[in-house]
Amino acid sequence: MLSLFEFLPIGAYRSSAEGRLERANASWVKMNGYSSEAEMLAAIDRVAEAWYVDPQRHLAFMAQMETHGYVVNFVSEIYRHKTRERIWIREAAHAVRDEQGSILYYEGTVEDITESYATQLSLEQSEERWKLAMDSSGDGVWDWYVQTGDEYFSKRCKEIYGFEEHEIANRAEALDGRTHLDDALQMQRDREDHFSGKTPVYRNEHRVLCKDNTWKWVLSRGIVIARDADGNPLRMIGTHSDITERKAAEAQIWRQANFDLLTGLPNRRMLRTRLEEALSRSKSVDTKLAVVFVDLDHFKEVNDTLGHEAGDLLLVEAAQRIQKSLGGSDTVARMGGDEFTLVINHVTDPVALEIQLQGVLEKMAQAFSLRTEQVFVSASLGVALYPDDATSVEDLFKHADQALYVAKGAGRNRYAFFTPALEEAAQNRLRLAADLRGALAGKEFEVVYQPIINLATGRVAKAEALLRWHHPQRGLVSPAQFISIAESTGMIIDIGEWVFQQAAAQVAQWQKRFDPHFQISVNKSPVQFHYRGGQASWAGQLHAMGLDGNSIAVEITEGVLLESGAAVAQHLAALRAGGCAISLDDFGTGYSSLTYLQRFAIDVIKIDQSFVRNLATRSTDLALCRAIIVMAHELGLSVVAEGVETEEQRDLLIEIGCDYGQGYWFAKPLGAHAFELFMAARADVSNII
Ligand code: C2E
Ligand code: CA
Ligand code: CA
Repeated sequence: MLSLFEFLPIGAYRSSAEGRLERANASWVKMNGYSSEAEMLAAIDRVAEAWYVDPQRHLAFMAQMETHGYVVNFVSEIYRHKTRERIWIREAAHAVRDEQGSILYYEGTVEDITESYATQLSLEQSEERWKLAMDSSGDGVWDWYVQTGDEYFSKRCKEIYGFEEHEIANRAEALDGRTHLDDALQMQRDREDHFSGKTPVYRNEHRVLCKDNTWKWVLSRGIVIARDADGNPLRMIGTHSDITERKAAEAQIWRQANFDLLTGLPNRRMLRTRLEEALSRSKSVDTKLAVVFVDLDHFKEVNDTLGHEAGDLLLVEAAQRIQKSLGGSDTVARMGGDEFTLVINHVTDPVALEIQLQGVLEKMAQAFSLRTEQVFVSASLGVALYPDDATSVEDLFKHADQALYVAKGAGRNRYAFFTPALEEAAQNRLRLAADLRGALAGKEFEVVYQPIINLATGRVAKAEALLRWHHPQRGLVSPAQFISIAESTGMIIDIGEWVFQQAAAQVAQWQKRFDPHFQISVNKSPVQFHYRGGQASWAGQLHAMGLDGNSIAVEITEGVLLESGAAVAQHLAALRAGGCAISLDDFGTGYSSLTYLQRFAIDVIKIDQSFVRNLATRSTDLALCRAIIVMAHELGLSVVAEGVETEEQRDLLIEIGCDYGQGYWFAKPLGAHAFELFMAARADVSNII
């Protein structure tokens, strides 16, 4: 007993019933700054007066001893007896009595807790400060005893959800039970991550049901501040911040970023997300899906003639029609303008898909009622299939676009499926586009001239300038192949200008040599009409060369007239004012509207080759050509028949009063020198055609 007393790591003592110190173990001696028990006992007389910084503590100690006969966990600040340094201690003591119950002596232990007490104290203080700070910042504070489920919520914490102080119990379930079901799992996960030490701070955003049954978004943050011996959390404190407004703003931004405002459909960005999801689904369950590009035909005309508001109405209605013809799991997105994209999932049967696409076409071809007007548009569809045609979003888009191009080219109001040949053609176009870039500088172009014969006199009255590209590797590349590339890349602007200048120089020479009224016609692409660059007007350039404006006829297609914006009309008017003739190419293949002919003061129409090709006595095409000629003459226009290949065709054209003929029967397009030889040869046979 004595030795245990002696070697106890905490202080131990015995004092007499009167309170005189009788024994002190080594720890207690050392704690008081003495070197031996004897020295200490000699220095101390009565225990009572010795230690407590606050003398009241001694009285409290004695009172407890009086009532219970013992004291435990008694924490006080004391002086080390010898050095008068202050320390915090925890003591326990009891009275040892004889059989009659009178006190023999007291024994007690004393533990130096200065270090742990100081940290606890500062923790409590900072906690209080923190709670105060949080409450005043508008955040609610919670203090959760994890294992018992008790939880204290600050006044503000209850206010956030519209509750009075007393309306929320001090239990964890009181708020946890109001968490949105969709958020509960993530909240649990975030808590566990913090409990396990994976995250230094707990952080979770969730919705809480308010008193008025609305939902509030809160950000909850917290830390575990006490754990049991096994490391399990005992107590956790944290805050709730109301983030409802931020969430609403975020949701708004998200909607704007992902949906089209006009139609409410997913936009390009959302489509990509949906398509990526759909692709990975299709991959895992091994099904097909279709990506369909939809483009409204003639939308631009509605917009131009009826105004943007009508155009918007049409788009909204079109969006609804497309949506109605699809299944619930399919996606319709608006890509911008009049372009839509569909993602059709679970394509099992190609025939079923075609029926569905046909359904879209039929819906779009029905009349649209826009306020007082009824308009008709149609749609063109391009289809690419996963995984048959492509497996990536990029390639599916590209292929659907190529197919759409085909659908439009084939006359619109139809669908076209992607084929590998399309891809090959597209690749070819890409290579050509790259080569075309250097063609002008590389002097790879040549302008050839095809004679146009006055059918009444048999004289070569004019010529059409046609472009040739001598590709260094491929040889001669047909304009049919490269003009559209030059148009879509914008290169047609420079190329077209160059052709014009060649033709202008040529016509100057030939007017001197053959006929002062000789005329060369030059094809002008719609793209050139939309370009507002700083090039001098063609008429201006002609005048500068001392030429009459009428030396050049500008050949345009109906497309130019259809897209008759103010800029195009001005451009045409400027050409006419400068004296240039306007010639309408490929007549009969497009809209063939008489009103256009008059409105834009066209001089010449060129009957398309497709009519001339099938000319025969009593054929419908003969009747058609005759009608065109009569009508044109009525309007004061002259007529050129293109693609005259046979004597019979020529004779029939003369018979129905056509003014001019152009075609292989007379001559193929010729280089400038060959053209001159041709002219010389004809001069010899004078006037015989
Ligand atoms: P286009 O303006 O309709 O030109 C007439 C086309 O018919 C020319 O084809 C010509 O060679 C061809 N042709 C002439 N007579 C006959 C015939 O008797 N039978 C047949 N089967 N064809 C005949 P080319 O030169 O291949 O030009 C094709 C198209 O390329 C032109 O059609 C025109 O749209 C475009 N093009 C040609 N040169 C230019 C140019 O400098 N600028 C622009 N923008 N387009 C051009
Ligand atoms: Ca032409
Ligand atoms: Ca033509």
